[in-house]
Amino acid sequence: MSELPASARAVIVGGGVIGCSVAYHLAKLGWRDVVLLERKQLTSGTTWHAAGLIGQLRATANMTRLARYGAELYANLEAETGVATGFRRVGSISLALTRERLEELKRGASMARAFDVDVEEISVAEASRLHPLVDMTGVLGAIYLPHDGQADPGNVALSMARGATKAGITIRENVKVTGILTHKGHVRGVVTQAGRITADVVINCAGMWGREIGRMAGVHLPLHACEHFYVVSEPSKEIPAGLPVLRVTDECAYYKEDAGKIMLGAFEPKAKPWGGDGIPAEFCFDELPADLEHFSPILETATRRMPLLGRLGIRTFFNGPESFTHDNRYMLGESPELTGFFVACGFNSVGIQSAAGAGKALAEWIVGGAPPFDLWDVDVRRVFPWQSTRGFIVPRVSETLGLLYADHFPYRQFTTSRGVRHSPVHEQLAACGAYFGEAAGWERPHWFLPGDEVARGRRPEAHDTWGRPRWYPYLEAEHMAVRTGIGLFDLSPFGKIHVEGADAEAVLQRVCANDVAVEPGRIVYTQWLNQRGGVEADVTVTRLAETVFLVVTGAATLRRDLSWLKRHIPDEAQCAAIDVSSGEACLAVVGPNARNFLEGLTPDDISNATFPFATQRTIEIGMARVRTHRLSYAGELGYELYVPSEFARHLLSVLLEAGRAQGLRPAGLLAMDALRLEKAYRHFGHDISDEDHVLEAGLGCAVKTEKRPGRFGDFIGREAVLRKRQAGLARRLVQFKLIDPAGLLFHNEAIIRDGRIVGHLSSGAYGHALGVAVGLGYVPCRQHESVEDLLASHYEIEAAGCRYAAVATLRPFYDPTGARLQS
Ligand SMILES: Cc1cc2nc3c(=O)[nH]c(=O)nc-3n(C[C@H](O)[C@H](O)[C@H](O)COP(=O)(O)OP(=O)(O)OC[C@H]3O[C@@H](n4cnc5c(N)ncnc54)[C@H](O)[C@@H]3O)c2cc1C
Repeated sequence: MSELPASARAVIVGGGVIGCSVAYHLAKLGWRDVVLLERKQLTSGTTWHAAGLIGQLRATANMTRLARYGAELYANLEAETGVATGFRRVGSISLALTRERLEELKRGASMARAFDVDVEEISVAEASRLHPLVDMTGVLGAIYLPHDGQADPGNVALSMARGATKAGITIRENVKVTGILTHKGHVRGVVTQAGRITADVVINCAGMWGREIGRMAGVHLPLHACEHFYVVSEPSKEIPAGLPVLRVTDECAYYKEDAGKIMLGAFEPKAKPWGGDGIPAEFCFDELPADLEHFSPILETATRRMPLLGRLGIRTFFNGPESFTHDNRYMLGESPELTGFFVACGFNSVGIQSAAGAGKALAEWIVGGAPPFDLWDVDVRRVFPWQSTRGFIVPRVSETLGLLYADHFPYRQFTTSRGVRHSPVHEQLAACGAYFGEAAGWERPHWFLPGDEVARGRRPEAHDTWGRPRWYPYLEAEHMAVRTGIGLFDLSPFGKIHVEGADAEAVLQRVCANDVAVEPGRIVYTQWLNQRGGVEADVTVTRLAETVFLVVTGAATLRRDLSWLKRHIPDEAQCAAIDVSSGEACLAVVGPNARNFLEGLTPDDISNATFPFATQRTIEIGMARVRTHRLSYAGELGYELYVPSEFARHLLSVLLEAGRAQGLRPAGLLAMDALRLEKAYRHFGHDISDEDHVLEAGLGCAVKTEKRPGRFGDFIGREAVLRKRQAGLARRLVQFKLIDPAGLLFHNEAIIRDGRIVGHLSSGAYGHALGVAVGLGYVPCRQHESVEDLLASHYEIEAAGCRYAAVATLRPFYDPTGARLQS
């Protein structure tokens, strides 16, 4: 065996389908000095035994775009590399056995149309004609995706590996990476049994070993293997060749015809985590012991659904490990802990269909220095180190495996590994009747049972549905309390970053598109832009003192924002960015009566004249000194009350006690989401992302191109803003409301302009004050199209196959002048 090279531009760890795809796509971009290291043989981990289903429709537009690219690449790869992928475009059918599932499928079909994926809602008779082996008892409806396919997973990987080596990339098998070299927060290469390779880029494509490779680098990745099963029948002439893939998700099952046999696979609700004590060192093309007892409920149902299966008998019972993550989404991108250390692992049983797109996107990210488009869904910066603890991840993956085929109701919550992070007032909120949802580990009230129900001893209960859940009236009452009286929110999970030092202002002037060189006590709403003018972060910056600023962001975006900020503090700057999230709690008092209410609790002057909108003051409430920020995401008069965490219980007690006589109502985050949508406030990750230009997002008012550059130059993205102003907008973020009060919107519904699908909603909710559902979504505009022309079109929103007439606006439907906020 020839010696390893001493250095390379990049080292890829792992020769499964993902590593091979990253290698192939790096080569396409001209990176040849790349070494892929595989501890055993290519594909010998999980890839070799996958079922090979290649679907196109994913939960978001960009994930769908990546999956579609995979199907195209696999169809054409043989011509380029000489290795056949076995890709066949057989189509796929999904059946619904319940009304709720039918609604989900229909919503999925509307979404597919919005994402430009061919889809047909078909009758049960048509489904039966396409797949004659199926007993259609209990089937209520179906959808058909004619361009879905299936492939030979091992050969997909080997074909891409061949493409990579033909282009000059080195692949070395039987070389195990045993360590990661680092220096001052940057990766420097790898250690292997056969020597070291120095490299500025290392890519962790180690599948279920990904957590272990991450740990070598001090990067904590929440993934864990589960046992994953399928069976293959005896062959039969009764099985027609080229049958579409069949999914009966209500029975947790998929069926695939392969070489005259039927493969039956499962996504059961309670999976079996595997490898907790370590993956055996010799693991190579291995299988796990069969577990007939575990699989038999699926098999029994399947033999009724496809009676031929029962008659044929089973030739192969297969059990192999696959890695699953805490949220059923894979992890991609540069780790926040270590620059140059990239991750592409945790593929949740969609690694074959995702490999091409994920490999291409990551290669572009590595070569271009930034994600090529919005990848926030799968971005590794969304994960928190504690999520990789065994206590959390092992129970969680037993749930996430099954989620692929579960009902994807809006607001559905995980049931495992809950109760990780609590606000200091958690128990008080629970006593008020809070129903908790989880984000970034935080238990956050979604909605509250009304006080009289709590007094009668009732407890809040989930009700998952595509329609109006039983708790809808409570949500409406919370919403209207904020619009007409006073609502109280616990916003303690906010991410909070102190930016301190003599150069803090100069650093923030470079990072923020708005002007933060303001007097102490002022609050500035701002975006952080990338060089393309895309939105990297959406935050408020409060100047607490001459050299101290507080950046407030969402709970889920904290790591992303902190890492962006730290990477943009120049070495020579006197400036530190410190995560202080846990140190302070935040309670928000919001609504037209908020000032009256607080005036009764504080000796301080909080009149509009002395304490106007977008400022901050410290006031006394009870026995606490409360740093109070006057702003609100609900679009009403509002005060966010920040106290050291240990004061939160006391503060809440004072507010609840005084609020009893004044109709103060605890409100949850689902109300907040609907309130902000009525006001057309954007939400990062839905309405704005790194691929959305700040001007097209309608946030130009928060961009100050004329501000004085600080010591570190103009703000990032300024040139892109100027260019866009010159060139004109290619699309605009538009607010919609339905005319029919019965329609419900969540997000991803198709936007139809003058009869043609032009986009999809990025957010949607029911606007209780408006009395109809509202949403936001981008609409492409013609060159220099006027706002009047854009809005003059006839708009409809398609959800579950129904087209609802909609009104479009660029000014918020609710309080368009902002008078209520400023009052
Ligand atoms: C039963 C089953 C059915 C499936 N069906 C489908 C399907 O129909 N469609 C679909 O899209 N996906 C499917 N999958 C999922 C798919 O197989 C995986 O998502 C995919 O193979 C993951 O690829 P990977 O490259 O991340 O991991 P792997 O294939 O496991 O590759 C990782 C590689 O890293 C190597 N490695 C680990 N540690 C080191 C080290 N220290 N040094 C060097 N190398 C190292 C390993 O040896 C391994 O070869 C299925 C999975 C299973 C188990």
